[in-house]
Amino acid sequence: MTKEDAYNQARVRVANHANFRTEGTYVLYWTQICRRLERNHALDYAADVARRFGKPLVVYEGLKLGYPWANQRLHRFILEGMLDSRAVAKKLGIHYWPFVETPDHAGRGLLRKLAGQAVAVITDDFPCFIIPEQTEALAKKTDTPVIAIDGNGIIPIANYGPVTSAAAHLRHRVHRQFAEAWLHRAERKPKLDAILCGPVDPPFDLWEETDLDRFLPTLPLDDVPPVTNRVGGSVAARRRLKDFVRKQLAGYATDRSPPSAPDKGHASRLSPYLHFGHISVEEVVEEVLDAAGDFDLEGLAARKRGKRDGFYSDNADVNSFLDEAITWRDLGYHWHRHRRGDTGSLKSALPEWALKTLADHANDPRPVVYSLEELEAGDTYDELWNASQKELVATGSIHNYMRMLWGKKVLEWSKTPEDAYRALEHLNNKYALDGRNPNSYSGILWCFGLFDRPWSERKIFGKVRYMSSDSAAKKFDLEGYLEYVRQLQA
Ligand SMILES: Cc1cc2nc3c(=O)[nH]c(=O)nc-3n(C[C@H](O)[C@H](O)[C@H](O)COP(=O)(O)OP(=O)(O)OC[C@H]3O[C@@H](n4cnc5c(N)ncnc54)[C@H](O)[C@@H]3O)c2cc1C
Repeated sequence: MTKEDAYNQARVRVANHANFRTEGTYVLYWTQICRRLERNHALDYAADVARRFGKPLVVYEGLKLGYPWANQRLHRFILEGMLDSRAVAKKLGIHYWPFVETPDHAGRGLLRKLAGQAVAVITDDFPCFIIPEQTEALAKKTDTPVIAIDGNGIIPIANYGPVTSAAAHLRHRVHRQFAEAWLHRAERKPKLDAILCGPVDPPFDLWEETDLDRFLPTLPLDDVPPVTNRVGGSVAARRRLKDFVRKQLAGYATDRSPPSAPDKGHASRLSPYLHFGHISVEEVVEEVLDAAGDFDLEGLAARKRGKRDGFYSDNADVNSFLDEAITWRDLGYHWHRHRRGDTGSLKSALPEWALKTLADHANDPRPVVYSLEELEAGDTYDELWNASQKELVATGSIHNYMRMLWGKKVLEWSKTPEDAYRALEHLNNKYALDGRNPNSYSGILWCFGLFDRPWSERKIFGKVRYMSSDSAAKKFDLEGYLEYVRQLQA
């Protein structure tokens, strides 16, 4: 993104109004969630500022110990990403300063110190979890300008306009804006030169570990175990993307829903990589459009807008996947931006009709109320639900269809909808590799009526859409999925 790129100015949010510190030693890109060094709007912007001031560009990536739900699983995935970034930085010749907090090496004050030596701090604008807070905290404490860049999606979130109540409304806006946004994607690789890569010394000891098996157990973290068959980082993300396009994209439109083992199904399983920014959604979409083979940017204007099918391509699988990866994904980000990260309660999040109908049914007897511990252990009367919870605990993800059913049942089994919401937030964010994301909240809240419409009324749910394991069993052959989860426990 250069100064001349007026389109992408919509991505820029100035977090404080300090003046550029021309005497600063470098321009700092503090990567908080777009944890990659390629195809990164914030990095492009930082490179542009560095060029303007003739200063080196430094990428700082930190990992603290005490973030909410911090555990071995999340840490491992992030650290694997940091190993990749270290290697990419070496290849590119860019200054990459990783910091990983340990009990003997606390991070308190480090970022402020780094900011104090910078011309400007550029960081990621992400509408959820601890990121908005961290950005604001630094912006308040430093005299250096802090500028947050929305590199979350293809279309800058600010360009979507007022908040929407359904994917159908956002889809029109996506289709209207896609062609122009596509022309303004991030650089494949950051544009660097001798000055940007010029000499500069880090004022702290860079994280130099290479052996995560040795390092990770030394950290005081919750012991949710790492997922052994899912490696974090940009290398694994690209491999997953290519495998998906080659083997699983065909059939996505029709066969994504039936619960299955991951290698038998059609889901991309890219969400953890997208969440931690190990891959850019622009790269994902580009790969899929290349596979479609009929993408015509200029021809888009004549295509059917506002429908799930027929917009990007004549290939139904491609359209279906891109609708999830762009419309549905952006729906959560857009909604969060308007809420400024407030996911505190159902009361502040749900539409009126959903709140009313849930309140009308507040006193309906629950068939059974499970404690958080029983839910966490997958110890309910419902074999299918238990399987989805066990899949989550073992693998850090749940099959997409099962995730919806998983959320719905907890509403049925909790004393109040608020209790259900809290339990789901905790389980999702503790175990899921893609948790703590805008779509963690929009997905969970969908189970309570967000982005949905009223359905026919029934007990407990009122007019909120109901799902049950019995109806899943009628629709799908579940044995393959159940056997897959049994094998995970073996
Ligand atoms: C209760 C509940 C909790 C959820 N929690 C999360 C979460 O923590 N993190 C998360 O990223 N998504 C969450 N979702 C949305 C959705 O389940 C996942 O995005 C999807 O299953 C990820 O698998 P995939 O990468 O294989 O998806 P694919 O089917 O391959 O889709 C490609 C990408 O499109 C996006 N996408 C797909 N479906 C949705 C959707 N329904 N809503 C928003 N974006 C979507 C994701 O970025 C996904 O990686 C949740 C949904 C529910 C019902």
